[in-house]
Amino acid sequence: MPFGRCISAVTSVRRLYVLLVGYEVLPKSISTKDLGARFILCEPICCYLVKTASGWILLDAGFDPVYVQNRELTEQYFHSAGIYPPIVSPAHELPFQMQQLGLSFRDVNRVVLSHLHLDHAGYLKYFHHAPVYIQRQEYLHGFSAARPGSYFLDDYNSPNIDWQLRDGDWEVVPGLTMLSTRGHTPGHQSAVIELPKSGTCVLPFDAGDLQENFDLEILPGECVDDVAALASIRRLKAITAERRGQMILFHDPVAIQRTRLAPEFYD
Ligand SMILES: [Zn+2]
Repeated sequence: MPFGRCISAVTSVRRLYVLLVGYEVLPKSISTKDLGARFILCEPICCYLVKTASGWILLDAGFDPVYVQNRELTEQYFHSAGIYPPIVSPAHELPFQMQQLGLSFRDVNRVVLSHLHLDHAGYLKYFHHAPVYIQRQEYLHGFSAARPGSYFLDDYNSPNIDWQLRDGDWEVVPGLTMLSTRGHTPGHQSAVIELPKSGTCVLPFDAGDLQENFDLEILPGECVDDVAALASIRRLKAITAERRGQMILFHDPVAIQRTRLAPEFYD
């Protein structure tokens, strides 16, 4: 579809906060399909808080550090699967960072998830008071027997979560639009945010982890649909160019050092 059709020109978004909530230690080929397997990267994990005229919206729910603070869980979820455990310092923890902004989980009105991987859904089990928006295909995949080990069912298998399922592109509030960017997973979505001063911010999430995924059109390491994943990369590039916007990358260890991190913000 044309890029602009569902992206509102009027914005109710006031501020965007980028929260760095930990790091993952990964072979580079997790981010760049079939490339760089011998290199190990330490990639940031982020959450985004969006201040709008109608309250606070949390985009993605990070990684729950309980999995690296409890030795049995670390063994079960990481060491026994041959995966390096993530690194989460006390200053990375989401509740601490929200406190610095004068916020608690209860202040979040809505949660929107890009997808259900372990580094995006970690704290979801603590958000029973706010509706959780997700693409229907991602929800179905997350609860299917076919889901891979990168989905931690314990993070989101709570009967108290108020799931709100969406199909395709949709507007959360004026100025915050989610675009279907499937390919990495069956129901991945990315965000386009219109800010009063900063203009358009495109948040790809895992449609492309690193700048080179976009510069060189390299697919994510894990894809359920390569053709769709490439189309998603091209779509996000085109929207960023068309709107003279900026991309804020979720997992790029170099770009994160140039990103304005909370308590600073984009407005
Ligand atoms: Zn992912």
